[in-house]
Amino acid sequence: MPALAIAAVLCGDAATAAEAIDWEAARVRMVDEQIRARGVRDTRVLDAMRRVPRHLFVPEPQRARAYDDRPVPIGRGQTISQPYIVAFMTEALDVAPHHRVLEIGTGSGYQAAILAELARDVYTIEIIPELAERARRTLSSLGYRNVHVRVGNGYLGWPEHAPYDRIVVTAAPEKVPSALLEQLRIGGLMAIPVGTGIQELLVLRRTATGTETLQTLPVRFVPMRGTPRE
Ligand code: SAH
Repeated sequence: MPALAIAAVLCGDAATAAEAIDWEAARVRMVDEQIRARGVRDTRVLDAMRRVPRHLFVPEPQRARAYDDRPVPIGRGQTISQPYIVAFMTEALDVAPHHRVLEIGTGSGYQAAILAELARDVYTIEIIPELAERARRTLSSLGYRNVHVRVGNGYLGWPEHAPYDRIVVTAAPEKVPSALLEQLRIGGLMAIPVGTGIQELLVLRRTATGTETLQTLPVRFVPMRGTPRE
């Protein structure tokens, strides 16, 4: 009985502390100190990152860490990416309001929400059903109707809605999956971490005759799972 009482008091304290956090102020600080300070200047991206309530994409026990300058665990060994990396990739993709965007690796659904603020439609694929289901619930509770979540193997893309104007891959394959390149519109851009261990974040443009590749940052995403079936 005394042990239970103590547990209740501790939970009460934790809840009060969490409620006291000013999430909007935390977002403004995140954008200024982590994102603008590192050179992201696209105001549409900065505004989206100030608007989307990142803490709601993070499981309750981690919520107070949601605006930290690092990835945060979301369960099943996966993480929501560091805010700066989300901003960097989104800026690199130069998303326009008429774009249809494909994301591989829904995870928490946060990157999809940022894209949904900027694009017409976002199609996102997650291989772990439980994460896909949670992301779907979070996105729909926030009113995002232009994000379409599907459980599947992202190596294969989502051919039914191709071609995509933009593709973002948020788990790292060893090389660029050919199905994703095929589903990218000519002139379209793809941001993708490639390699094992420390990966290189590549930004590719599909041209009429092939691809142009820009190496940007060294990054560390979770490895992409499943069979490439190349
Ligand atoms: N974009 C996410 C973070 C991604 S973490 C966010 O904003 O929260 C990488 C995610 O990719 C994990 O959820 C992992 O389960 C998923 N993943 C790994 N391999 C995959 C594959 N082959 N197809 C689809 N999703 C995959």
